[in-house]
Amino acid sequence: MAQEYEVIVVGAGPAGLSAGIFVARQKTSCLVISKDLGGQMNLIPKLENYPGTLMSSGPLLAKTLESQFLSFGGEMIYDTVTTIEEVEEGMKVKTNRSEYLAKSIVLAPGKVPNSLGLENESALSNKGVHYCTKCDAPFYQGRVTATVGVGGYLLESGILLSRMASKVYLIYKGGALGGDKDMIASIEKKENVQLVPQSSIKNISGTNNLQSITIMDNAGKETTLQVDGLFIEMGSKINLDFVKHLVKINSKGEIEVSEAGKTSHPAIFAAGDATSIPYKQIVAAAGDGANAGLAAFNYVERLKGRPGIRADWKKTIGDTVFHY
Ligand SMILES: Cc1cc2nc3c(=O)[nH]c(=O)nc-3n(C[C@H](O)[C@H](O)[C@H](O)COP(=O)(O)OP(=O)(O)OC[C@H]3O[C@@H](n4cnc5c(N)ncnc54)[C@H](O)[C@@H]3O)c2cc1C
Repeated sequence: MAQEYEVIVVGAGPAGLSAGIFVARQKTSCLVISKDLGGQMNLIPKLENYPGTLMSSGPLLAKTLESQFLSFGGEMIYDTVTTIEEVEEGMKVKTNRSEYLAKSIVLAPGKVPNSLGLENESALSNKGVHYCTKCDAPFYQGRVTATVGVGGYLLESGILLSRMASKVYLIYKGGALGGDKDMIASIEKKENVQLVPQSSIKNISGTNNLQSITIMDNAGKETTLQVDGLFIEMGSKINLDFVKHLVKINSKGEIEVSEAGKTSHPAIFAAGDATSIPYKQIVAAAGDGANAGLAAFNYVERLKGRPGIRADWKKTIGDTVFHY
């Protein structure tokens, strides 16, 4: 028989673990099902912008969030969710190895950045090769960088790097830059940005850290550039096949959410990078996870005829407990 929980969270990145913390802390049964612990946080050896921590790392934050979740009685299973279905008792969550029932679901499956598929690419990841310019550009103050990518991702990457790096090679396949006209005009005015059109990266090299990249233009001419950092901005993959029949997905392939992680399905809430929020960062995912967790908890409370709470703190006066 399927094990039952009041809330099931899909994904153990910052969004899912934060949702789990806020549900489990209300003494409500909560299971987090995830392929791994930490999600994209595993790609962040040096985390500088999570408020309240100095020089932390993504994996350390993931482990801390997991311990916090478990300390409130939450449960964790490492598995892949393959489908979610509506059933009479609520929602049925099927995984590769089992199935579970829940009254409410929080979706936090995040995303995975696309790579170029070059030899050495994974070995040099975070050793000069980066997939998130807004996260890692500050490490390249006064240094030589290159960025390769598509559309708006590439433009944004070029602008961010131009504010920090001494030099930015902006590499793209087409003859002209595509995307927002104001951003293109801004890039074209930057003295430290060199446009490298009709080109792609053939290989990258370096022993401990990235040292150079070789680019090839459409005519087959190869040029080697000495760079300290390469930013790959080829977009990301969000896989929502397991739930796309239940919630509204926008044109970017993200789960459409409104306030407190509401989706188009009343029993399903969502948070983090897989949703339509504008800023894909850990603190935003954690905050939205807290909101979605509380919203899922309140949904379950209302099914029981209880009023729900507005915040995760309370005050006792005499024998009465007031939730805020
Ligand atoms: C290279 C890189 C560097 C970054 N640096 C920073 C930084 O310095 N600061 C910052 O704030 N942000 C940074 N970010 C962004 C940040 O990592 C993300 O915004 C954040 O991790 C999103 O959290 P999330 O919980 O939504 O998703 P994720 O972190 O992507 O986690 C999703 C989780 O869901 C699981 N999952 C997915 N599908 C399923 C399924 N079907 N079944 C079970 N489990 C599933 C995944 O395995 C994963 O554990 C960086 C991102 C990258 C790629």
